[in-house]
Amino acid sequence: MSAASRIDLHTHSTASDGTLSPAELVRAAAEAGLDVVAITDHDTTAGWAPALDALPAGLSLVRGAELSCRWYGAEPALPLHLLAYLFDPDAPELVAELARVRAAREERGERIVTLLRADGVDVSWPEILTGAGGGTVGRPHIAQALIRAGLVSTTTEAFGPDWLGERYRLPKEDIDVFRAIRLVRAAGGVPVFAHPRATRRGRIVPDELIADLAAAGLAGLEADHEDHSPAERAHVRALAGELGLLVTGSSDFHGTHKTVRLGAFTTAPGAYERIVAEARGVTEVVSG
Ligand code: AMP
Ligand code: ZN
Ligand code: FE
Ligand code: FE
Repeated sequence: MSAASRIDLHTHSTASDGTLSPAELVRAAAEAGLDVVAITDHDTTAGWAPALDALPAGLSLVRGAELSCRWYGAEPALPLHLLAYLFDPDAPELVAELARVRAAREERGERIVTLLRADGVDVSWPEILTGAGGGTVGRPHIAQALIRAGLVSTTTEAFGPDWLGERYRLPKEDIDVFRAIRLVRAAGGVPVFAHPRATRRGRIVPDELIADLAAAGLAGLEADHEDHSPAERAHVRALAGELGLLVTGSSDFHGTHKTVRLGAFTTAPGAYERIVAEARGVTEVVSG
């Protein structure tokens, strides 16, 4: 890994709510000049095989996922996202938990559609499932249906308070975050807290919880992310320093569902090397 390496450890494909297929994603990552890219779809490893098959020469692929978690120490419980890298995709308990969360996402999505339809909004659940194309269903797919129906013009507007951000926002049955860390570590993976200070998405967890998560096996914090202000990035960095956690930066690329570009934020080689070193080798980084 040279100091000039460009490492983006958080991206989404059509296996969840991104708009590029896993094969298109790895090609786009190479075209964007990345040396390392992680595929981290929500609650699924379905994109791993097609991404590996299409891996361009010179690009390294880190197989990962972004797990939908919840901290039950607040009332109401707080949602949070855990990036998990290089874990065994066949670890039975983790596999079962991911399948359960994907089912809970569908159940929540259908309830959101029922609420919208009760208010006379012309969106349909089968249409949204078709839009998700077999990938993990998320609110961005419902946002697309609102755009198609002419009710909003952008995904950002669909996530506003009148729509999916508040009025039609429903919780889903996520994984208890301490259990998620335990399962990821048991599967040989490395857990990193995604966008931990993204206040613009809603309530955030207290720093005391992050200290408890570190004690429970959390490896790192994602500091450089478009949803963090410069002050929030600095705060996350300082907290990671205090707790001995590694720090990542990443685009959280979603294709045309977001405006951010691949490689817009990157991770330093030293932090990446720590992730690879901590992974227990059940799944290795593969280079094209
Ligand atoms: P879900 O996982 O179904 O709750 O949907 C969350 C996903 O929606 C996140 O992964 C983001 O990619 C996306 N998202 C959340 N807030 C926004 C926003 N304000 N604008 C665009 N996309 C968003
Ligand atoms: Zn997403
Ligand atoms: Fe996230
Ligand atoms: Fe993400």
